[in-house]
Amino acid sequence: MRVSIVGTGYVGIVSGTCLASKGHDVVCVDIDEAKVRNINNAVPPIYEKGLEKLMLDVVPDRMRATTDLHSSVLDTDFSLIAVGTPFDGQVIDLTYVKEVSRQIGRALREKDGYHTVIVKSTVVPGTTDDVVLPILEQESGKSAGKDFGVGMNPEFLREGEAIVDFMYPDRIVLGGIDNRTRDVQEELYSAFPDVDKVRTNNKTAEMIKYTSNSLLATMISFSNEIGNLCSAIDGVDVTEVMKGVHLDKRLSPIMPDGTRITPVFTSYIEAGCGFGGSCFPKDVNALIAHGRRAGSPMRLLEAVIDVNREQPGRIIMLLKKHFPSMKDLNVSVLGLAFKPSTDDMRESPAIPIVRTLQKEGAKIRAYDPVARHEAEKIFGTNGIRYCDDLISTLEDADVVVLLTRWEEFGSVPELVSRLPRQPLFIDGRRMLDSRGFSNYEGIGLGRKA
Ligand code: NAD
Repeated sequence: MRVSIVGTGYVGIVSGTCLASKGHDVVCVDIDEAKVRNINNAVPPIYEKGLEKLMLDVVPDRMRATTDLHSSVLDTDFSLIAVGTPFDGQVIDLTYVKEVSRQIGRALREKDGYHTVIVKSTVVPGTTDDVVLPILEQESGKSAGKDFGVGMNPEFLREGEAIVDFMYPDRIVLGGIDNRTRDVQEELYSAFPDVDKVRTNNKTAEMIKYTSNSLLATMISFSNEIGNLCSAIDGVDVTEVMKGVHLDKRLSPIMPDGTRITPVFTSYIEAGCGFGGSCFPKDVNALIAHGRRAGSPMRLLEAVIDVNREQPGRIIMLLKKHFPSMKDLNVSVLGLAFKPSTDDMRESPAIPIVRTLQKEGAKIRAYDPVARHEAEKIFGTNGIRYCDDLISTLEDADVVVLLTRWEEFGSVPELVSRLPRQPLFIDGRRMLDSRGFSNYEGIGLGRKA
């Protein structure tokens, strides 16, 4: 199929590259000329493992990029909208979705054949039917269902695992105003014949995405709240508590041969310094706002956000327990991205933590295997020394704070043990064994545990 994908952020570029590798002809559209240039040179606009190799396979034969949305709609049968849908503090901001819908609508006015428009961005229930569809009809002068189809196909990829998630999906949700729209999407995903498909209406498709993210965010805040209580009980360590919880056979099923399955889901039941990223905070907030407007307040989700907002402050509390003043304290920050395997720093817990350290006069060294350039955009280059490896980051540290579960941080106990002076080590992810450090603090570790 000939597909245009509008927006080449995480979702757009991964979807485009993967669909091209499955045999479709893909045109990526973005207003950012630098991104377009990079894509046409097979240079990934984001850090995502496996992406560059796949792009080299498909650019330019099966995938190209352009800023010209109008011609792209005319040249393709199918448009996926994958632009950002930020939360503006009150409601979901649909500026980009509306603008793209207007442009697609104007192109449809000049198009003879049937076209399918699919929203892939995460949007609150009702957006596709009540915002996108009317704009398309108005701008094109044509009728949805007759001249073009309108659907909603939410994306579930995780940054850091995006290629694998797209290529081996656990489900594909096909929302649409009619069967024709859903059938066209079945054709788009025909290379995934064995994957469970949910054929539904657009509002249900929109709601499935929010409900999935809200469930996972709730599990994280639940674990953090339990962790916070553990840290107030002498002798209790949240990691042991959660080990006991994980062994429930409904969470870790026992197979007939006696072995256990440990689903990825259990990784959401771990205490830490909070969730971040471009999705969970934004999506949970958007659903809360939507619930309020719909007359159905989301009290549990409001608490999920509250717990998460306060979680980075727990790191500062642990630090201040040992160093009430941070003035000129040498603090080494390990990990800046909101999670490993990505350079995405949007809503990362590292942001409020580093800002507090800056405000309180700490001397900061920071290291992240891939997020340095993103961090420089947020914190600037003054007042933080960005290091290129762990050894130089740990040098002279009074305090070491681990904020992202990067695999290479597994070597930290060994590196710290070789330092002439042992720093305070604060484990914001409960990643490392406390016994590897002479002075250890961690989220959810009871005072004498
Ligand atoms: P992003 O912010 O990384 O990228 C959006 C892109 O859209 C940018 O490159 C921007 O230049 C482009 N854009 C904006 N206006 C445009 C226009 N008028 N025409 C063409 N391009 C335009 O966004 P993202 O992280 O890829 O997320 C996109 C959507 O997918 C959001 O709704 C998000 O919630 C959802 N989503 C994201 C993820 C994720 O892991 N990032 C996962 C699932 C769903």
